[in-house]
Amino acid sequence: MPRPPDPLGDIDLEVFREEGRRLVDWVARYLAGAEGYPVLPRVRPGEVKASLPASPPRGPEPLRDILEDVERLILPGLTHWNHPGFFAYFANSSTAPAILAEMLAAALNANGMLWKTAPAATELEVVVLDWLRQMLGLPAGLFGVIQDTASTSTLVALAAAREAVPGLEARRRGLSGQARLRMYASEHAHSSVDKAGIVLGIGQEGLRHIPVDAQYRMSPAALKAAVAEDRAAGWIPFAVVATAGTTSTTSIDPVPALADVCAREGLWLHVDAAYGGSAAVEPSLRFVLDGCDRADSLVLNPHKWLFVPVDLSVLYTRKPEVLRAAFSVVPDYLRTAEEAVAPNFMDYGVSLGRRFRALKLWMVMRAFGQEGLASRIREHVRLAGVFRSWVEADPAFEVVAPSPLSVVCFRARFAGVPAEEEDRRNQGVMDAVNATGEAYLSHTRLDGRTVLRLAVGNIRTEERHVRRAWDLLREAAASRR
Ligand code: PLP
Repeated sequence: MPRPPDPLGDIDLEVFREEGRRLVDWVARYLAGAEGYPVLPRVRPGEVKASLPASPPRGPEPLRDILEDVERLILPGLTHWNHPGFFAYFANSSTAPAILAEMLAAALNANGMLWKTAPAATELEVVVLDWLRQMLGLPAGLFGVIQDTASTSTLVALAAAREAVPGLEARRRGLSGQARLRMYASEHAHSSVDKAGIVLGIGQEGLRHIPVDAQYRMSPAALKAAVAEDRAAGWIPFAVVATAGTTSTTSIDPVPALADVCAREGLWLHVDAAYGGSAAVEPSLRFVLDGCDRADSLVLNPHKWLFVPVDLSVLYTRKPEVLRAAFSVVPDYLRTAEEAVAPNFMDYGVSLGRRFRALKLWMVMRAFGQEGLASRIREHVRLAGVFRSWVEADPAFEVVAPSPLSVVCFRARFAGVPAEEEDRRNQGVMDAVNATGEAYLSHTRLDGRTVLRLAVGNIRTEERHVRRAWDLLREAAASRR
């Protein structure tokens, strides 16, 4: 017999219970069988949109119908980041404790803008970020705050760096009419640094890209020279963004030497370890964060390589008071009696309302333990090493950059053809592999040439998936010779 509708218009809780159980079953089947889906969907732009009604429903629709449409209309149009053949960009994956935590966070709906609006969420965030700090081997006393993405973490860090410029008072006076600020990052720094400059009024001209060495690491000598040249030309140098694990090659900038330059020059040092930082949960890979104890701020993304689904980025700083000075604006309605004794995380970033993201990190850290997380990271680095050894052993391919972590940059060789044609064929090799639906790789440009990347980072990736990608790559390259 049909149940009477919920008086609030929400889904009846008995239906919720029943459909929720079915959904959990579905998710378990999906995760177990993710490799059965094509990793890249076979859709053309506009196709999914065209399959959906153009106007919203006027009345309620049964939950069962809605969920069926997810499977029928949405799923075929998704790129499956959970697919073990996902080797593009930086792979990431969802894990069971994090999925349950996301559901709980939505149910609890705690908004952690102030301690008072979510005391336990605030204090769990403090604790979980201190646990993570310990797992990474970072020094005590760091302040941590969760942001949505690394782009936001870097924006917030650079806003603090701007606030720290003596006499500038950018927060109060704005930047118009003032001397121009300059920050520095390597030629391989992520585009989020450019974007932070755009948002903060530093402008794209205010970001100077510093040349790299043969291993794609920022040159401290070139940084020093650039700072001196800019000062002489009237710029105000204020910050350096070092990268520990660049997007193209995962190169690691020499943070200790860059920290020396920053200390001498009075520059804020922000380290973008969005991808690389997670590796430090494995003690033998702690070199990735060498020198980061001297950074003013550091970002890493558990949503890249710590098995937490998007979004969750962690910003650490030795100078939380500067972040607060940059961001704290407390209208009367947000004043609380506890503000002197407990953190209000709204003071350390742009957004006021904050999702309960700490829950998923806490649940993942507890369900895996440090050893569980470290063993996955070790395995990914091993798999990248195995792939690299296959590429190195095959004269029809070449490795084109060092692989300090879990990414291999390589290309197929096509003897006797000009560089542009070789680039074009490599692009063709990648497109052909991606079209199989069994693997998904992405490309980059290095030294003006097209390069393919195989990034291991999905928790479900096994050696057989890497082997399959390699077989597909060899077939695709052979058919273009
Ligand atoms: N920094 C690095 C080195 C990255 O590789 C990326 C993205 O891949 C980012 C920052 C931006 O990360 P998010 O998507 O969290 O903003």
